[in-house]
Amino acid sequence: MTIETILISLGIGLVVLILFLIGFVILRTALYSPPQKKVAPRDFVAIDGRSVAERLGLAVQYRTISDLDPSKIDGNSFLGLHRLFKTLYPQVHDKLKVETVNDYSLLYTWEGKNPDLKPIMLISHLDVVPADESEDGGWTYPPFSGEIADGCVWGRGTLDIKNGVIGIIEAVEYLIKHDFEPERTVYLGFGHDEEVGGKNGAAAIAALLESRGVELASLLDEGGTVIDAFLPSVETPVGVIGISEKGYLSLRLSVLVDGGHSSMPPQETAIGILSRAISNLEGNPMPAHLEVVEFLMSYLGSALPFTQRMLFANTWLFSGILKKQLAKSSMLNASMRTTTAPTIINAGVKDNILPGKAEAVVNFRILPGDDLRSVYEMVLERINDERVVVSPLEGETLEGESGWNPSPVADTESPYFTRLERLVRQAFPGSLACPYLVLGGTDARRYAPVTGNALRFNPVQVSREDLQGMHGVDECLSIENCAKMVSFYIAYIEEISSLTDEEDLVSEEADVSEDIETELDALHAEEDLALTDEEKAAFQAALSKREVDQTSGEEEPSDGE
Ligand SMILES: [Zn+2]
Repeated sequence: MTIETILISLGIGLVVLILFLIGFVILRTALYSPPQKKVAPRDFVAIDGRSVAERLGLAVQYRTISDLDPSKIDGNSFLGLHRLFKTLYPQVHDKLKVETVNDYSLLYTWEGKNPDLKPIMLISHLDVVPADESEDGGWTYPPFSGEIADGCVWGRGTLDIKNGVIGIIEAVEYLIKHDFEPERTVYLGFGHDEEVGGKNGAAAIAALLESRGVELASLLDEGGTVIDAFLPSVETPVGVIGISEKGYLSLRLSVLVDGGHSSMPPQETAIGILSRAISNLEGNPMPAHLEVVEFLMSYLGSALPFTQRMLFANTWLFSGILKKQLAKSSMLNASMRTTTAPTIINAGVKDNILPGKAEAVVNFRILPGDDLRSVYEMVLERINDERVVVSPLEGETLEGESGWNPSPVADTESPYFTRLERLVRQAFPGSLACPYLVLGGTDARRYAPVTGNALRFNPVQVSREDLQGMHGVDECLSIENCAKMVSFYIAYIEEISSLTDEEDLVSEEADVSEDIETELDALHAEEDLALTDEEKAAFQAALSKREVDQTSGEEEPSDGE
């Protein structure tokens, strides 16, 4: 054999190998993530969206703004909202047990027919973030007006998330009116401090349930919705269902040195040392992991353009390229790693004095797979400077009010997920559905002690632009969405509360101690729910408006199909 023939055979071998690899990559791409199976169409109850929007508008008028400092909460707004519910939804308040928790949160219990089945729960929150009410605040309609105009109801909370509260209670009111009785017990929980962490609301409700031995089969909270153009390259609307949420850690970075006169500065100053630490953190992001995005894409893959599908189908080859590409989108980047965000910095008081102290706060959102301890260690490693003291923002331990681990991941094989997924695609025809990781925080994490099956989805269809209204200006919800949301919750409660999965029986240990129950009942006795004159007036105005609408052909929620 001559050298020439050896080279030729090697060349042929190489070409065959490359062809084989290309074939393999294409084959994997072709087999990757088959299109989502068609779902059988389903008849949803027809609801009059306008009257739902009006009742939501009334709820918006209560300035239920939460605050970390309980003394700054306007308690009357919350109590007024409770009274509004009692007036608007008499059947719910007649049939369900209502308890107030820590004065302003609400827990409703709708006893099921079969106590052997684990209960289900739907939650949302009563509080909202503040809104600029001044002339130049940027709102088209005042943020606490609940105005109905241009086919929408406007105001703070119409999307985050008084719509969820109203949608859920409307559905229960409807079901009771139509003699529906759930097999499973259905709990409704509405916290009053979600926007400031949920410590006194959701956490207290969850603790109360836990003390009664309640073990939930599943929980439905806010989180995902149906989003138009969820991914830049996917035009189909996607219903994203949160199955977990990221953890949280705020760390304080402090540098203490000798201060002095700025005319003779040392080689390194407090500000310089602190800046380098922050820059080291930003410049060396936490490691990227593709699992979460890969899992999401395994549902949406068929809708991706060919090249993207090829990359995801072949992460064994392209993970490096993918990580670089995904990092360019802040949403996908945050789904791929624990994020690093310097949020506060403080040092110095005068231009000619060197400060002896410089401090910063950096906020991390922890990806499932990382945890408080591992993130803390990665931070120390990246800063690598003993002069920078790294401590939790609040308290002495990493876990507490300034830090918590990622929440448990709900089981996507469970009927609670698969039924919800199907309902989403039935209620929003033409949409896809997929599980995803909630990047912000919700009350659902507070329920981890009573369920591992927390799902996060609010049944409305919105654009990316609509989502800007949450915590921003011109928050609004279309009348169409108002109707859809209620009919969705009706179908959800009907279907999920009737699930009789034998594997899902209440476990033996979950037996309740009567004593604890009565004690806690006494602690959280129901408040007096009479309307104030002002509320009566607002309520009357809205009611008369509705009567006018009804005479002009609009109806109260009716049962259509
Ligand atoms: Zn919210």
